[in-house]
Amino acid sequence: MLDQDIKKIIYSKEDIAKKTAELGQVLGEKYQGVNPLVVGILKGAVPFMADIVRSMNIPLEMDFMDVSSYGTGTVSSGEVKILKDLDTNVEGRDILIVEDIIDSGQTLKYLVELFKYRKAKSVQIVTLLDKVEGRLVDIKADYVGFNVPNEFVVGYGLDYAEAYRNLPYVGVLKPEIYETANE
Ligand code: 5GP
Ligand code: MG
Ligand code: MG
Repeated sequence: MLDQDIKKIIYSKEDIAKKTAELGQVLGEKYQGVNPLVVGILKGAVPFMADIVRSMNIPLEMDFMDVSSYGTGTVSSGEVKILKDLDTNVEGRDILIVEDIIDSGQTLKYLVELFKYRKAKSVQIVTLLDKVEGRLVDIKADYVGFNVPNEFVVGYGLDYAEAYRNLPYVGVLKPEIYETANE
């Protein structure tokens, strides 16, 4: 079973449910009456986005973008490429970007600048996880679920080689999973 590859759970299904309900309520109050455009960053933000918007009890629109900031390895190349752009015109809109995790910050820095260039009225960021130690560029999330240590995590949207996104919690893989992958 998928569970057996996990060494330890960092944030349980219950921890995440409590946090997303809290964040969603705060965001619902913040964005009341402005019909925000909530932008999920594929694919990692999908479970978080689904939970957050269902706790925001206000009219809003949803859209998605797919970008890649990583080269072939696990170290960020610093280059951001748009793999799928928004369907929506952001001019004059209040944008809430939903991310799974901020590490170097390069992806979000690029997106915030892009939306400002496209004349968004406001741009804010909510991220489930923040790895502050990984930051290479100056960017801050406006709303953070949890601060995580500099460790590679999977689950609840986050992948290792495209797997584990469907785990209902965030955890750390057993070391042998990486070792067998490198053989
Ligand atoms: P950055 O902030 O470095 O531009 O990029 C953040 C992206 O790197 C995240 O959206 C995620 O795809 C990936 N990433 C960073 N840290 C982790 C991690 O611990 N686990 C997983 N699965 N992905 C990560
Ligand atoms: Mg992401
Ligand atoms: Mg990934």
